[in-house]
Amino acid sequence: MQNTTHLVCTHCQATNRIPTERLNDAPKCGKCHAYLFTGQPIELTSTNFQNYMANNDIPILVDFWAPWCGPCKMMAPYFAEAAKQLEPHIRLAKINTEDEQQLGAKHHIRSIPTLILFGGGYEIARHAGAMGTVDIIRWVQSHT
Ligand SMILES: [Zn+2]
Repeated sequence: MQNTTHLVCTHCQATNRIPTERLNDAPKCGKCHAYLFTGQPIELTSTNFQNYMANNDIPILVDFWAPWCGPCKMMAPYFAEAAKQLEPHIRLAKINTEDEQQLGAKHHIRSIPTLILFGGGYEIARHAGAMGTVDIIRWVQSHT
């Protein structure tokens, strides 16, 4: 029997079943053939949020941010670098709380940036305040 990992394609939103031992082999979407991992955080909105939470077997780390927030902008390159290092074991995503106020309210975001680590659609851990790449990775690994 083969272990498979469910992954939502960031391009067409289809759910893929990837043999777990092939996660490191740059898997592509069976439907649209886009790479399932690009080394970049993805954008989550109220439209795609639930699909990602329900249909990804890997944990999702979400950066709740806003364009007017200085520390958020400062952290953005560190977060992008963390995506390169944590994929394909963790999916990194960003939610613009200015555009997606409902998602911010739903998760009781009181200050930004706030990082929330989700597993199986549930919050595993959260951290308020900006972090550097090494600290982001260390924090995620301490909770997975
Ligand atoms: Zn696709």
